[in-house]
Amino acid sequence: MKIPAKLANYINGKLQTPSNKKYFDNPNPSTGKSLCKIPASNEKDVSLAVKAAEKAFPAWSKTSSQERFKILNNIAELILKNLEDLALAESMDSGKPLWLSRSVDIPRAHQNFQFFATAQMQFASESHHMPGEAINYTLRQPIGVVGCISPWNLPLYLFTWKIAPALATGNCVVAKPSEITPCTAYLLGKICIQAGLPAGVLNIIHGMGADAGQAIVVHPKVKAISFTGGTVTGARIASLAAPKFKKLSLELGGKNPNIIFADCDFKKMLKTTVASSFGNNGQICLCGSRIYIEASIYEKFKRAFVKKVKQMKVGDPLAKDSNLGAISSMGHLEKILGHIEIAKEEGAKILYGGKQIKLKGKYKNGAYLEPTVLEGLDPSCRTNQEEIFGPVVTLTPFKNEKQAIALANSTAYGLSATVWTNDLNRAHRLGEELDAGIVWVNCWLKRDLRTPFGGVKNSGVGREGGWEALRFFTEPKNVCISY
Ligand code: NAD
Repeated sequence: MKIPAKLANYINGKLQTPSNKKYFDNPNPSTGKSLCKIPASNEKDVSLAVKAAEKAFPAWSKTSSQERFKILNNIAELILKNLEDLALAESMDSGKPLWLSRSVDIPRAHQNFQFFATAQMQFASESHHMPGEAINYTLRQPIGVVGCISPWNLPLYLFTWKIAPALATGNCVVAKPSEITPCTAYLLGKICIQAGLPAGVLNIIHGMGADAGQAIVVHPKVKAISFTGGTVTGARIASLAAPKFKKLSLELGGKNPNIIFADCDFKKMLKTTVASSFGNNGQICLCGSRIYIEASIYEKFKRAFVKKVKQMKVGDPLAKDSNLGAISSMGHLEKILGHIEIAKEEGAKILYGGKQIKLKGKYKNGAYLEPTVLEGLDPSCRTNQEEIFGPVVTLTPFKNEKQAIALANSTAYGLSATVWTNDLNRAHRLGEELDAGIVWVNCWLKRDLRTPFGGVKNSGVGREGGWEALRFFTEPKNVCISY
């Protein structure tokens, strides 16, 4: 499975050129060279996709759960079979190390299909008995045509995290991957053809958010939108979809705290904190970018952390020893560098990093950045309040638990939080007090796909994962039978 010179939309079971025949360039961020051309689809293509989805819906929604399992599991198996090609495509498209796409992104896309193929077979609905009078039972029916829109940081991983539960519950889908990383979504279309997914059940449209994405959101026949991306885009989508009473799931930005108490397992904490700060170049919505350290171990932590960060190798994503690859795009690199300039103006002391890296030869035009560690900033400054979504963290000391909680809760975001402590009571107290959809204690990014996933405050509305996703993609209907 190779990336062609021009990607195609996947509509009604076929790979199709965009109706306006227009394309735009998709550069490889590790070299700056063109990787392929992306269809610049618009509302005409979305309209064709919605028509195909509407046509496919009656049969797909009535397909037995065993048959749906079989087809979705075929897709899962084909993802695994094509792991190497998909991992390579993901790395060239996003700049992330090949070892990372191979060990995390693509295996997780496989698991997403496998998990929801199985989960829909176990999904059940409630009944409510009124003794001597009536029985109520709840039907959970597919919604119809739904839209799934995803970002560039975990391309196939997050795309399939939405599509799999939507299809599993009997919906037909019009989906759009990020225009920054469309390649594995294109390959998924080819996999679906091989897997025997009926035409029109899934349609994948490529293009810009304002054109193809927005056309999905406003289309009157698209009844629900599952979106993952930035908070500003989420607000725009909500403003367009809410007056049309569409069901909405919004997974948005984060500015996650990592709270380190002196009583933690220092070695384990240090190793995990390097990963939670710089994994995927800090471009995971769950990365901990605000590190709060109990004052008594602040200097010890700072020395040990900076020493480890200095050892990280930034380089060619295809090289085995690169800890970090390229930033996802030159535009995003410039945005992160702009944030570093703001941090300097706000009085940050740069403990390590802060500069763009110029590699040699083939990689000289790639988007590389030093992992960056900052200290000395006020918790209320922009650097500590705004999502940077890159390899940039701030270190701040705290005096006691109360102050740590106040600092952690001091932003407009509330996606995840990490706590390091060996005090069991404190761990439970923080679990209760932190404004976050997910709290990790003495670990980070430990994921059980059955758990609710999502954020509070500006980090989003609704939850994905497990039953939450199956509930989102179904409409509950109460049937009351009197006797
Ligand atoms: P983005 O909001 O710019 O784009 C996300 C998707 O929305 C893309 O496919 C884009 O084309 C599309 N889009 C843009 N404008 C649109 C519009 N008007 N209508 C419909 N679709 C539109 O986000 P991004 O830069 O791709 O991703 C980074 C952001 O995603 C970060 O803020 C990060 O925190 C967030 N994120 C959140 C989670 C989570 O689970 N909460 C996970 C990953 C990433």
